[in-house]
Amino acid sequence: MTSENAHPAKAKPLVLLIDDCVVLHRLLAARLSAEALELLTARSGPEGLQIARERLPSLVLLDIEMPDMDGFEVLRQMKEDPALKDIPVIVLSGLDGAEDKVTAFDLGAYDFVTKPFNLAELRARVRAALRMHSLMQMLSQRAQLDGLSGLWNRAYFDAQWEAEVARATRHGHPLSLALLDIDHFKSINDTYGHPAGDAVIQTVAEVFQAGIRQSDVACRYGGEEFALIMPATPPDEAGKLCDRIREFVEAMRFPRHPERTVTISIGVAGSPGGCTLTADQWIEAADKCLYHAKKSGRNRVNITDLGGASRPRLAEAG
Ligand code: GH3
Ligand code: MG
Ligand code: MG
Ligand code: MG
Repeated sequence: MTSENAHPAKAKPLVLLIDDCVVLHRLLAARLSAEALELLTARSGPEGLQIARERLPSLVLLDIEMPDMDGFEVLRQMKEDPALKDIPVIVLSGLDGAEDKVTAFDLGAYDFVTKPFNLAELRARVRAALRMHSLMQMLSQRAQLDGLSGLWNRAYFDAQWEAEVARATRHGHPLSLALLDIDHFKSINDTYGHPAGDAVIQTVAEVFQAGIRQSDVACRYGGEEFALIMPATPPDEAGKLCDRIREFVEAMRFPRHPERTVTISIGVAGSPGGCTLTADQWIEAADKCLYHAKKSGRNRVNITDLGGASRPRLAEAG
């Protein structure tokens, strides 16, 4: 699964306090120490935004009155940033004006607490906001999973692949993509029935999950086709990993049809770094490889090295 989503909610949730008052930092650090959370602190809006972008907290406690950039502006910028916009924000304000509450909620605040606040109440509000955030995350993760295989779905793949290609291109890192397709799958459906076909998809998906590394992203691309994103992996290494997966699938036995083995064909397109193909062109290249694997007999891995030898791009320019 992806870097961010691979280990959901294992660690304590991060709560970021953005407030220019250091006394409050100390007070909240002490009073929230018994809660299952890790507190991060920032003394200004810009510092808070920077930490939020780096650490992606589960909750932000945001002071309104701060010099330079006030809390409303921080909130506005958070809501404009796709990476931050879903983080709940509890606004802390010394002002009890109804107008500020309205402004905060209109800007997308999750909750509003007036200073001086009752600490037990603030703790309860923090817990409620964290519960809401974790439910939202669970729901959004579920919407990105494929129901039959439990792998990431196509929509998730599309977004993630774009992001990985952009990242690898920017940094000149290696990256590989594999497209995997079950061989003669239609005949499994035709011979043993659709439920048997479903069971094969599930079993093959389990083999992928078990065979890939933590940083790899396994997706169900379509019916009996899968995609595997391998960040930081040059094509030769990706080919080896895929060949192990291929061997593993070939060795599987299925309770519904022990006499019938299942094989997969795999196309791998990868770069050792510095490749300038677009995400779509990269998929086309992997698809072509898969097509050749099928044409040349199935149950095999066909690899293409997209090149772009990993020279720093500055050196190229000079
Ligand atoms: P090839 O070796 O060339 O890949 O042949 P194939 O039979 O695997 O490929 P083809 O594209 O002809 O058939 C894919 C079949 O997969 C057709 C479709 O009915 C079936 N299929 C797609 N989604 C599902 C699913 O969720 N469950 C089941 N059981 N079958 C599915
Ligand atoms: Mg203040
Ligand atoms: Mg197919
Ligand atoms: Mg097939």
